[in-house]
Amino acid sequence: KKYVYFFGDGKAEGKGDMKNLLGGKGAGLAEMTNLGISVPAGFTITTEACVEYYKRGKTYPPGMWEEALQALKRVERSMGAKFGDPVNPLLVSVRSGARASMPGMMDTVLNVGLTTKTVEGLAAKTRNERFAQDSYRRFVTMFGSIVMGVTREHFEEILAHKKAELGVTQDTHLDAKALRELVASFKELIQHDTGETFPDDPIEQLRMATNAVFSSWYGARAITYRKLYNIPDTWGTAVNVVAMVFGNMGETSGTGVAFTRDPSTGEKRFFGECLMNAQGEDVVAGIRTPLPVAELGKTVPHAFRDLEATYKKLEKHYRDMLDIEFTIQEGKLYMLQTRVGKRTGIAAVRIAADMVREGLITKEEAVRRVEPDHLSQYLYPIFDLAEESKRSPLGKGLPAGPGAAAGKIALTPDRAVEMQAAGNRVILVRQETSPDDIHGMNASLGFLTARGGMTSHAAVVARQMGKVCVAGCEGVEVEGSQSVRIGNKVFREGDYLSINGSTGNVYEGDIPVVASEVIQVLEGKLAPAQSDKYQRFETILKWADEIRSLKIRANADVPDQARIARGFGAEGIGLCRTEHMFFAEDRIPIMQKMILARSSQDRERYLEQLLPLQKQDFLGLYREMKGYPVTIRLLDPPLHEFLPKREELMVEIAKHELTGGNPAVLEEKRKLLARVEELHEFNPMLGLRGCRLGITMPEITRMQVRAIIEAACEIAKEGKKIVPEIMIPLVGMITEMKAQKDLVREVAQETMKRHGVKLNYLVGTMIELPRAAVTAGQIAQEAEFFSFGTNDLTQTTFGFSRDDAAKFVGIYKDQKILDADPFETIDREGVGEMMRLAIGAGRKTRADLKLGICGEHGGDPRSIEFCHQLGLDYVSCSPYRVAIARLAAAHSAL
Ligand code: PEP
Ligand code: MG
Repeated sequence: KKYVYFFGDGKAEGKGDMKNLLGGKGAGLAEMTNLGISVPAGFTITTEACVEYYKRGKTYPPGMWEEALQALKRVERSMGAKFGDPVNPLLVSVRSGARASMPGMMDTVLNVGLTTKTVEGLAAKTRNERFAQDSYRRFVTMFGSIVMGVTREHFEEILAHKKAELGVTQDTHLDAKALRELVASFKELIQHDTGETFPDDPIEQLRMATNAVFSSWYGARAITYRKLYNIPDTWGTAVNVVAMVFGNMGETSGTGVAFTRDPSTGEKRFFGECLMNAQGEDVVAGIRTPLPVAELGKTVPHAFRDLEATYKKLEKHYRDMLDIEFTIQEGKLYMLQTRVGKRTGIAAVRIAADMVREGLITKEEAVRRVEPDHLSQYLYPIFDLAEESKRSPLGKGLPAGPGAAAGKIALTPDRAVEMQAAGNRVILVRQETSPDDIHGMNASLGFLTARGGMTSHAAVVARQMGKVCVAGCEGVEVEGSQSVRIGNKVFREGDYLSINGSTGNVYEGDIPVVASEVIQVLEGKLAPAQSDKYQRFETILKWADEIRSLKIRANADVPDQARIARGFGAEGIGLCRTEHMFFAEDRIPIMQKMILARSSQDRERYLEQLLPLQKQDFLGLYREMKGYPVTIRLLDPPLHEFLPKREELMVEIAKHELTGGNPAVLEEKRKLLARVEELHEFNPMLGLRGCRLGITMPEITRMQVRAIIEAACEIAKEGKKIVPEIMIPLVGMITEMKAQKDLVREVAQETMKRHGVKLNYLVGTMIELPRAAVTAGQIAQEAEFFSFGTNDLTQTTFGFSRDDAAKFVGIYKDQKILDADPFETIDREGVGEMMRLAIGAGRKTRADLKLGICGEHGGDPRSIEFCHQLGLDYVSCSPYRVAIARLAAAHSAL
């Protein structure tokens, strides 16, 4: 088996599509080499070797190391220098590179190969003693901390001490002698802390660095990151060993990272940062605030022209926005990495739409590249402009993660987690973030950092997580873990702060956030033509619509929701939960009286009062939906939900008794309590609810059907199209279905006759009980459509209470008893099989049976894919998920 892939001299053994084996970085280096781009020679040890390494109890698979040493010989030939040679030494970097990029999560060691002998060779060869000693002290620091485990701060302390002693402020002011002394102190530190001598044999260094990279795959940071992004532990990381080129050889040398387009907004402009006279990690770590990449045009114009030509060539080749790393050594450009760049959702949409226009990609590819989560970023809130413009910013940083966030300041990641758990909105404020902060970042709405650029850790993570971020904000000074100075004000943990990640502005206090542009357009507050964002959003969705076959409906109960749903492109209402209409302030007392009534005549009296209100509800929905189908479900929840809580009533009664309140009121309350107790159920979710209500209290069904049909008659009289779909909930037996359907038909006929209108309407059911799924063939004799109520179907199939499962589902996921929460994404093996069964049997009975889903899963991309595979006609989800569902449906069809 081949474990090592060489690249150099314009030819690579690997290729760009070998990411799984070579990791993203290795594949990119191979591809660039093959494209004739200037890349230093090197080799990649495969991810398979890493996996084998762990399988064999941390030893290399046979042959791997020999292959690596052979590849090293080829690197020596290509670079015209020798590893470990005292006169003409070759140095290498040793870097991790997994299949999926895990920014900053794993380890890198630069300048491997420097020893007491080769450092002198490097000094002589470059005629630059200071440079050689500077490289050596960086190497000893990196190797000492990453490979040998010495605390990084210990090196920093010695360095700071040295600078103080010499009265200098910048590292660059340390001369060769000072650096030489630092190296000696560092080595002593390592000896002291680890009991081991710093290795002076280059091959030993290479071996130890390789092991360190392999080991970093199971480092705590990497494990947390993988959990967060569902990256399997089994992938392993590759190791890239690449000949060093030096960005720290003086003012015509430098290093940088760039994106071929703006990763925040997607705008087509070369966008990046560089540091002159610096080495690679200085940029990413955010230790010095870098310059815009265009500055290179002034200092090293020739290299900058090469860089521009290279990025254009690469973008054309990859047909995507790229993230590149480069080093300029004495005016000559070397590319060190390229990969498809991470971007915000806003940028993803814009880049995809632009690239179709530029003829780089097809519409299908554009749709494929936009992820459902990307679209949600178009829906994020922004600051209320009027409020924001009233205030003057405390400071301004880089707009590194767009959107707006306001909340309480947390100064450490642990505090951020605690504060969030206590129900606070949290803004994490740090000098700079590091991969160790990831849990706190996850718990925060946004981050503010004092140092670092657009490609610093905080910025990259924010864009990926969809968080708000202002990075590198001048004037922010974190003073320990208690307070932070921003501009001329001191804040303590818990104080409110507002950050605008689209402009970089930072404000004191809690600025209210308002809806995004897209939402404002949908709400009619902004004209579509005024918003480029809205238009791009729509463009991608229009293309998605050309691809998908699933229809998308919305779960909407009131006209406002229906309007939003239509705005997002809903093609009907898949579920109107009529119970929500009864919670309105003017209705709940009537509803309660109806429930408390002893006889059906009494009940009818109150229902009569509800009828006109209910009819208005439906009219509103029909009008908004302009001829699209509207599915209305008859009353479903257990009635106690409409009544006051037993315990609350008892407390009220006790209070009355104590204070000797009005006896008539007391009497009323006692009666109410008695009735509430009478209606009490031990297990209301399996109690008197769903069609059981309509069967035991038919007057409820009558009133609702009258309202549905009367409203429809009115619409029909206006000459407009309307086909109401009446849905019977929680059916388990055909006999239940038939009983309710007969009643529906009778009332509908009556009502239409009274109005002199003939309407089309459908009567169908929800499939949300296992018995319904199993006997779906029978039920379809009566039901004209099925809508899968996967919330209840999941509850009843698993026997997991949908209201209590959260307590153990998390633990189940941690123990890998479940891979996903079945209430979030459909359990294909169990609940999914129920659906498949029901669909097969239902369609056998009734070929034109209409099929949909209206449980929460209807808005979950993975579940939508499954619904597409099952051949459903539509999915129905919350209004705000409709756009996401349109895209997910298109992805399912691609
Ligand atoms: C369901 O059970 O999936 C459903 C849509 O109904 P509800 O959530 O109202 O019970
Ligand atoms: Mg249900």
